[in-house]
Amino acid sequence: MSKKTLGLPDPVYDYLLSVSVREPALLKRLREETAKLPMAMMQIAPEQGQLLSLLVQALGPKKCLEVGVFTGYSSLVVALALPADGHITACDVSEEWTSVARRYWQEAGVSQKIDLYLAPALQTLDRLVAHGQAGTYDFAFIDADKESYWGYFERALTLLRVGGIAAIDNTLWSGRPADPKIDDADTSAIRAFNQRLFKDTRVRVSLIPIGDGMTLALKLRD
Ligand code: CA
Repeated sequence: MSKKTLGLPDPVYDYLLSVSVREPALLKRLREETAKLPMAMMQIAPEQGQLLSLLVQALGPKKCLEVGVFTGYSSLVVALALPADGHITACDVSEEWTSVARRYWQEAGVSQKIDLYLAPALQTLDRLVAHGQAGTYDFAFIDADKESYWGYFERALTLLRVGGIAAIDNTLWSGRPADPKIDDADTSAIRAFNQRLFKDTRVRVSLIPIGDGMTLALKLRD
């Protein structure tokens, strides 16, 4: 996993940041606080946050889904870019990590835009589908445990409207899926996910080599 864009030499990465990333002070502070945690590598890169922000601002989604909140950087990015009546359904299982997220959402004044469900995300997503929410979401960001990625994606795709976009993080997984000798559970899950998505005609996809790889999938049909 990586919290900066993979494969770029440091001076080039620093250059990219210096000429393109305008990170608000609050997001920078959240990223720095998160960097001190033992699971800091789960943090998305700031250039990636900015891409999410741009996408959300361009799409103007009313309903967003987030699978995997961690300390709330991506949800904060999305919430800040949402229109006033936009809303995020956020899924995570960690009270500890999301307590950091809640503190920053509060400080940014976006808490009212985010509903946090502390439960296994597959259950939360199934419940949303059961409650008639299929086809009502405009945008989804998936960044949680890799072995459940396909399960999250299937449900997110059901919840998205045609024309909605899912962004899936860590799809290059430090380059490990490209090495056939590596077959740990997470790498195998990402490799299988990518192969399956590639063949999925319900979506148009683009794997962007930003951060640890982020795939965008546009829903073409139900
Ligand atoms: Ca991630």
